[in-house]
Amino acid sequence: MNSLFDSLILAYYNTGYDSSPSYGAYSQIAWYWWIVGASVLASWFVSYMLRSRFEKYSQMEIPLSGKQIAERMLEENGIYDVTVECTPGSLTDHYNPKDKTINLSETVYGAHTVAAAAVAAHECGHAVQHAKAYHWLTMRSALVPIVQLSSNLVQWVLMLGIILLAAGGSPWVLGIGVALFALTTLFAFVTLPVEFDASRRALAWIQASGVSNAIQYNQAKSALFWAAMTYVVGALSSLAMLLYYAMRFFSAMNDRR
Ligand SMILES: [Zn+2]
Repeated sequence: MNSLFDSLILAYYNTGYDSSPSYGAYSQIAWYWWIVGASVLASWFVSYMLRSRFEKYSQMEIPLSGKQIAERMLEENGIYDVTVECTPGSLTDHYNPKDKTINLSETVYGAHTVAAAAVAAHECGHAVQHAKAYHWLTMRSALVPIVQLSSNLVQWVLMLGIILLAAGGSPWVLGIGVALFALTTLFAFVTLPVEFDASRRALAWIQASGVSNAIQYNQAKSALFWAAMTYVVGALSSLAMLLYYAMRFFSAMNDRR
């Protein structure tokens, strides 16, 4: 999702310069702010739930550390060329397919808790996907370089497109912005099966390996559910904004006929 600053700048151009005859200024202001407002509220709610679950499950102790969980899950999946490392910060946990490392944050690496086990097993899930060439992960990796370029450009192109449109210019710059935004939205949706599948693999292993009891399993499941919801909210917010800009583009095209 855009930063608040980007949203405010875009809101200024979206609502301040309205020359599109087929849309009332009010309905544009309303649509834009409904989407921004709903996105902010939903992401606030999910991050609140995620934080509170992780705080709670960081008190629930288990015998193994995050590092030990990751190493055991790798071994039991027959993966011997992936290393588990400690990375600074919190919520910085990730799997790096380039150097085949599972990077666990300081709060996960050495912690003997349900929250740490859930995160460590989830990141291992990505390593297992990579080892098995899981098709959604392959597709996501192929999109990374294109999406990095388009996500750097998209806000500027959209802004330029809206300004040009307001000045009575061609809607085509806005059209290019919509196409770039569609790519970043597609990426957000391709990320969803990758994240859900990593959590599914993590939970299946946690249950089968016997590292947790039934209560701890349900806690790990709840922590991973709220972590996945942040990706769902991000993808839906992106889709709503994409539809908004697409609507403005097509209405501008109509007005030119
Ligand atoms: Zn993940």
